[in-house]
Amino acid sequence: MSIRSRLTVFYSVILCVSLGVFGVVLYLTMAHSTRTFMENTLAAEMQRLNENHVQSLAYIQWPNPTTGMDNTYWQACDSKGNVMGRTDNLKDHNLPLSDDGLRQIQNGQAIYEVAQVDSASMLVYSQPVNSENGIIGILQVARSVAEQEQALATLQTALVVGGMLTLILATGGGWLMAGMSLRPIDHLTRTAQQIGNERNFDRRVKYHGPQDEVGRLATTFNGMLAALESAYQHVTQALEAQRSFIADASHELRTPLATLRGNIALLQREPPIAPDDRKAVLSDIVDENERMIRLVNDLMTLARAEYAPDVKLESVSLDSLFAEIERQARGLHPSCTFRVGYLTNLQVKANRDTLKQVLLILLDNAFKFTPAHGQVELCAEQCGNHVQIRVRDTGVGINHENVAHIFQRFYRVEQARNGTGGYGLGLAIAKALVEKQQGTIQAESRSGFGSTFTVTLYGDETMTPTAYQPQDHLVRTYSYAK
Ligand code: ADP
Repeated sequence: MSIRSRLTVFYSVILCVSLGVFGVVLYLTMAHSTRTFMENTLAAEMQRLNENHVQSLAYIQWPNPTTGMDNTYWQACDSKGNVMGRTDNLKDHNLPLSDDGLRQIQNGQAIYEVAQVDSASMLVYSQPVNSENGIIGILQVARSVAEQEQALATLQTALVVGGMLTLILATGGGWLMAGMSLRPIDHLTRTAQQIGNERNFDRRVKYHGPQDEVGRLATTFNGMLAALESAYQHVTQALEAQRSFIADASHELRTPLATLRGNIALLQREPPIAPDDRKAVLSDIVDENERMIRLVNDLMTLARAEYAPDVKLESVSLDSLFAEIERQARGLHPSCTFRVGYLTNLQVKANRDTLKQVLLILLDNAFKFTPAHGQVELCAEQCGNHVQIRVRDTGVGINHENVAHIFQRFYRVEQARNGTGGYGLGLAIAKALVEKQQGTIQAESRSGFGSTFTVTLYGDETMTPTAYQPQDHLVRTYSYAK
């Protein structure tokens, strides 16, 4: 059974029960108040008779009905119920008294009974007449209840017919209302089905109604679709990135492998090549081999940086890290001046080894692209709750169009393609490693004027920001012989 049918049935059953209860209560209340009114009227007539008209049971001057209606009937009986006198409007008929009623009257009680008199329904009030010797007779007063019964029957018919009509109308209206309220849900279901079939996650449900339950459902559904669309795009991009990664890696490996194969073919030649050529070929093989090892190592580092789970972050003191980097920088054989300057006591939230790897990549590049008379600088400063570490050089710089691409893997600026021996993976690795530490990396450069790479990381909360004191600011400058 559909929700629409269930709602309609539920609603109709509740309405039917409510109408039934309402009708029964109304009918019973009306019947009760009509009967009470009749009983009170008969009791009042009886009292008037007793007070004004009864001298003895043998002689009663029957009163006119006070209501002006001639449908009030009077009768006097002896104590055994034998009729002694009655009003003329009863004609040949007596007011009946049941055996049970007679017994109650003989016990001193007044009673009301409904009885048929000449095929008319009457309410009869019978009351004992007492003397010192006990009950000597019975007085009865009656009125037709046909009008009241007719009115109650009409009320009953009106309630049944009106109730049924209301029920039919309300059920029809409920069916239409349920249909209208559920239409947006139906629309949602159809859209969801279409999206599932077409896998088109940029579709949205159109809903222009109020923000009620259905409105909120439509909003939530659209929100879920947006999240699904972004996740789907993310997965598609990741797959695309993986595909291009494999394509780029294979492309880069092809050249050294082809060179190796050519060199080995030279060594296999018969008759053998001259000893000097053989030496040169072997040296080439070693060089290519080393390049391939570097490439594979870089690829592994990049894959690990991009796909490995997050690194563990700790509080890293830049004082000791920079001192260590200064020592290692000498191993990079710079030919220019190297300057280190930073405010002491700076601490960042990072992974020490990972951050060191990033800074060594940047310094390696800076030394590579800065001529002998130039300068490379490593410095750090605090900016609010962040710390910015800069590697600045006065080298060849990068032109405007290339700066936007240098963090892409395998991207090399044309002039660097030959001669530097790099594969364009260093900055891609640095970016992935910085992002693993919840930081960002940016490059600013001008061709011919040098470059600045800025790594921004969260400062450690325990770090107490010190006001700038010249003695806290360490500057060490190294000049290396060419
Ligand atoms: P590689 O590993 O080949 O050095 P990177 O990803 O580190 O590649 O660098 C990409 C390109 O960015 C390099 O080919 C170089 O042209 C340019 N580049 C990087 N750092 C600098 C720098 N400090 N000065 C000038 N050019 C740079």
